[in-house]
Amino acid sequence: MILIANSEGFPGVDVSAQKLHTGGDGLRAIVEGIKCVEADPRVRTVGYGGWPNVLGEMELDASVMDGNTLRTGAIGALKGYSHPVEVAYRVMTDLNHEILVGEGAGIFADEIGASRGDNLIEDSKRVWWEKLEQAMTDEEIQQFPNVPLAPLSNNATDPERVRDTTVFLSLDHSKKISAATSTSGWAWKYPGRLGDSPIIGAGSYADSRYGACACTHTGEMSIRCVTSHAVVMYLKMGWSLDEAVYEAIKDLQYLKDGYTEGVTIHAIDKHNNHKVVSLNCPGPITYWIWKDGMAKPEMREAEVISTR
Ligand code: ASP
Repeated sequence: MILIANSEGFPGVDVSAQKLHTGGDGLRAIVEGIKCVEADPRVRTVGYGGWPNVLGEMELDASVMDGNTLRTGAIGALKGYSHPVEVAYRVMTDLNHEILVGEGAGIFADEIGASRGDNLIEDSKRVWWEKLEQAMTDEEIQQFPNVPLAPLSNNATDPERVRDTTVFLSLDHSKKISAATSTSGWAWKYPGRLGDSPIIGAGSYADSRYGACACTHTGEMSIRCVTSHAVVMYLKMGWSLDEAVYEAIKDLQYLKDGYTEGVTIHAIDKHNNHKVVSLNCPGPITYWIWKDGMAKPEMREAEVISTR
């Protein structure tokens, strides 16, 4: 058994590890862990306490994937609900669809009785408006929100607070491999922007025959390279986990135009191996690991590749 979560997963890794340890289903184990992250305002990029879009609205994205069935569930730009990852799970279990966005996602969340919540905390609101005020003229401040949003969304980005996500991967007692993600996405994003987190294959992918992968940071890059599916595909070709992840890093390095910054790849294979590699992401990148035999999840540092 193995559990991997990125650093933002700290409020939920113990819960997930405990559920895996006691023989729980791996996908439910990581969904329950992510719900703890979504509820914790110390994690400023996921659920309650995350960052809003350029209009000051919280639009949340999440996904799940069951590596046995290759069924997925994803939610994009969901407003007003506390646990997007649970809504994503219910897309998988209750619908013939794989992804819902925007208004329809809200209708579905309401229909299943998902818990409602205003995820915008005062501090996020304050920082959101401070950045906007710096990026707008006095006239635009008066007219907001009836101003061109594209330049505002591009210019208001604060590099210290741009984005992050939580991603969890598991290999459970039955050898099922699962992936799940949740995020408030890119701070000051254009309304309706989806990152990689709700895009299966980009932000996450799981196939119990080979392994699983999930990405954090610049979703605009992992969408273009379909990074998570690529890693699993490279495993399918018979490559080692190290080779698979390095090849996906090479794919990302090929991107020259568009918005290119950093991506961190988290990956596991069916043999209980894991690999976390960060390409051009700022700061030391850490992640959580738990394997059966370990008393508790431990924090480790990701391998760093920097080309800048
Ligand atoms: N990948 C997420 C997104 O693009 C954010 C992040 O992980 O930093 O929305």
